[in-house]
Amino acid sequence: MIHYGRQDITQDDIDAVVAVLKSVNLTQGPAIAQFEQCVANHTGAQHAVAVSNATAALHIACLALELGPGDWLWTTPNTFVASSNCALYCGAQVDFVDIDPRTYNLCPQRLEEKLIQAQKANKLPKVVVPVHLTGQPCDMAAIHALGQKYGFKIIEDASHAIGGRYKGEPIGNGRYSDITVFSFHPVKIITTGEGGMALTNSYELATRLGLLRSHGITRDPALMTEPMQGPWYYQQVALGFNYRMTDMQAALGVSQMTRLVDYVQRRHDIAHRYSELLADLPLTLPWQHQDSHSAYHLYVVRLQLDKISATHRQVFEALRANDIMVNLHYIPVHTQPFYQQMGFKQGDFPQAEQYYREAISIPMHVNLTDEELQFVSNCLREAMGL
Ligand SMILES: *Cc1c(COP(=O)(O)O)cnc(C)c1O
Repeated sequence: MIHYGRQDITQDDIDAVVAVLKSVNLTQGPAIAQFEQCVANHTGAQHAVAVSNATAALHIACLALELGPGDWLWTTPNTFVASSNCALYCGAQVDFVDIDPRTYNLCPQRLEEKLIQAQKANKLPKVVVPVHLTGQPCDMAAIHALGQKYGFKIIEDASHAIGGRYKGEPIGNGRYSDITVFSFHPVKIITTGEGGMALTNSYELATRLGLLRSHGITRDPALMTEPMQGPWYYQQVALGFNYRMTDMQAALGVSQMTRLVDYVQRRHDIAHRYSELLADLPLTLPWQHQDSHSAYHLYVVRLQLDKISATHRQVFEALRANDIMVNLHYIPVHTQPFYQQMGFKQGDFPQAEQYYREAISIPMHVNLTDEELQFVSNCLREAMGL
């Protein structure tokens, strides 16, 4: 079977995890700070807070930005449901901005149009969540400029994008946002099994994220409302959660980070090879902005359905029948039953819906061989009836 995405685990990774298992601290030990430092160094962010998964990171990022009842969060419909669910966890409301048909990311022009309308209706968003789909950075300079003008905060959902670059700088450095979130789920660029991280350049936000990760409890006298009552003392100063990462996970993360640059390079090599193998097929291949260096979490092809007799579903099923575990990223979030109950309808975001009718994520991970890339390409050609 050839999976659309999967982890790469080396003996070094295994040794790093086993070393933690033989140590004193399985959680709340030194590996967490080490992993946080590692990701902060790579991205250039000043603060990093490791958590149990990216969904948790999005949740506490929203809370740290004080998103709550009566507030709006806007994101793209072309994402995993976690990018919008985080607002609902906080009692806030969600709306979407349609995608740019070329990048498949949240479209800054549609965003501006919607902001103008929202300003008239006095319903401006408090937070906007751009998602770097497939690892290709959003047009962050444009989104940031709109944030300045209309007064919203920005959380980058960079679950696909660790190792990517925008205008020459690492995703996660926070130049254009308040908080950036990474996911370390096994299909993503690097993995900790489950895991996530929130990065920020704000000491205040980092402090809140740290509190929310662990029950709202602090042992830091500087954050307490009264003097320490003794060495046992701690205070709960906010309502937090148990969103902690374990030290086994963090040690795996540190070990994986040593290969991040190679991983992204390998993904670019695979993308380049696909672009050769698929060049003559009636497919739209991933478009890359000259200002950006994708992390290439996914390789999405769009079928040019007017040029083939097979349907999207037939192509998808034919690939699966050959044990090529293609996938579809994403079913537009606003078409999910849970979101339809909230009043969203088919037709609300036509570009995302059109993309959904044509997109297929073909295998993209660092251990694919050239024979596998050729096999996938040949199967795709056949599946399209060519
Ligand atoms: C994977 C993913 C998430 C959630 O990540 P978890 O670590 O699994 O919680 C959120 N947003 C996007 C875009 C993702 O791809």
